[in-house]
Amino acid sequence: MDTPIEVLHRVFGYDSFREGQQEIIEHVVQGGDALVLMPTGGGKSLCYQIPALVRPGVGVVISPLIALMQDQVDALRALGVRAGFLNSTQGIDERQAVEAAFVGGELDLLYLAPERLRADSTLRLLDRGDISLFAIDEAHCVSQWGHDFRPDYLALSGLHERWPEVPRIALTATATPATHAEISSRLGLDQARHFVAGFDRPNIHYRITAKSEPKRQLLEFLRTEHPGDAGIVYCLSRSSVEKIAEFLADNGIPAVPYHAGLDAATRAAHQSRFLREDGLIVVATIAFGMGIDKPDVRFVAHLDLPKSVEGYYQETGRAGRDGLPATAWMAYGLQDVVQHRRLALEGDEAHRRRQVLHLDAMLALCETAGCRRVMLLDYFGQELDKPCGNCDTCQAPPESWDATVPAQKVLSTVLRLARERRQKFGVGQIVDILLGKKTAKVLQHGHDALTVFGVGTELGNTEWHGVVRQLLAQGLLAVEPAHGALVLTDASADVLRGQREVRLRRDAPRPTRSRPSGGG
Ligand code: ADP
Ligand code: ZN
Repeated sequence: MDTPIEVLHRVFGYDSFREGQQEIIEHVVQGGDALVLMPTGGGKSLCYQIPALVRPGVGVVISPLIALMQDQVDALRALGVRAGFLNSTQGIDERQAVEAAFVGGELDLLYLAPERLRADSTLRLLDRGDISLFAIDEAHCVSQWGHDFRPDYLALSGLHERWPEVPRIALTATATPATHAEISSRLGLDQARHFVAGFDRPNIHYRITAKSEPKRQLLEFLRTEHPGDAGIVYCLSRSSVEKIAEFLADNGIPAVPYHAGLDAATRAAHQSRFLREDGLIVVATIAFGMGIDKPDVRFVAHLDLPKSVEGYYQETGRAGRDGLPATAWMAYGLQDVVQHRRLALEGDEAHRRRQVLHLDAMLALCETAGCRRVMLLDYFGQELDKPCGNCDTCQAPPESWDATVPAQKVLSTVLRLARERRQKFGVGQIVDILLGKKTAKVLQHGHDALTVFGVGTELGNTEWHGVVRQLLAQGLLAVEPAHGALVLTDASADVLRGQREVRLRRDAPRPTRSRPSGGG
């Protein structure tokens, strides 16, 4: 029998294990159960593939990524591994051939879509073969609080009862401590060994900047820090993807769009250009990135706020896989918060609660005055013993200031406008009132007669927008779903009564319009 390291060399052609792999593999080879948290790209597949090759019998891999199964199996076969899959995309002949190979012991690995396990015929088939292990990939899909819940995963708790001697290894890249605990209990893995490996990506520099003119800010970031580099720019909507790609191309930066609205041939062409060419930028929705394994992505830029910290981590994690310095840059502003707060009010109760939790964690990361990496790793249950020195807040600690009085001004303006039944007002009107601007809309509604009119001249337009953004982020203001109007929260009252101090971080001053002159 080959040892794990021999299989690593002979079959996969790699010199050495990556962090965590060897321990996990040895544990499973010896028949132990394992729950593995390892970031995307960390090398989870080998953690079950090698034990499946070392142990007698067939390793059964449960994976929800049906679209990737064919590729995974082809890649394994190219290495001489006997692999097959069963999912709904197959014809009957193909399925029967795979089933026969499984029963005949002619497979090393069998990939199964989770819904297959609902069919009694699949369970009976598995009974007829010799199983070396169960690997449950994307194990966070069992969590109802996660972002990717799949009801079929709940049935996986039954594997252990039916095949108690077969070791199980569950793997995921995205798990907060709460999700981690939920995976463990739902899959009955409390007795399993838990491995948490290397979420830190020390070569990635994190930076989150206040959004003022996103296109210009992006261009400046690319020109000063990443000229000629390959990277990904993420936007929320298809139309902004198109616009930004065009804008970059117009400015002489090679860029192509990628989103689900493009036909399959165009998407495939853009993806393969990105993998092949040097220095191409892909402007994309989150549809782009699944399974992209390009080592020299030098930056990931976000022009819109990701929906969750998991999403942010996964997307930024596509930068710097080669270990060389890379940048995760994001421009984030008031409109992002308003939009997300509104989205978080849609759907059923459970969905809303989940969205709000995800959003609050993401906002906290954006608004923190502490080290971003410490906060990011803490989210995944990992501790960093000191600030990282490689993020914007470490390098230029933001000042915080006592914003209690400005906050009271905003909140009392919101309170006064809330008394008007006929119309709802957004942030623009509130700031205009505070600044004492006699715009048509202000005069039309008689808002120049309010006591708060013109009481806010100590701050400028941008600063007031920053104050509102941070009040929203801290939950001291809320967005009403129907009109997107600002409304007070329970916590607002304490501020208005002077019973609660408000501290905000001072946004970095806006860079000047002129091109920075080299050096820096
Ligand atoms: P994950 O499933 O954790 O996202 P993969 O298992 O797909 O990651 O591995 C990511 C990449 O790293 C793959 O290209 C894989 O071949 C490579 N890889 C994994 N382990 C090693 C290793 N020990 N040495 C070199 N490359 C490795
Ligand atoms: Zn830091």
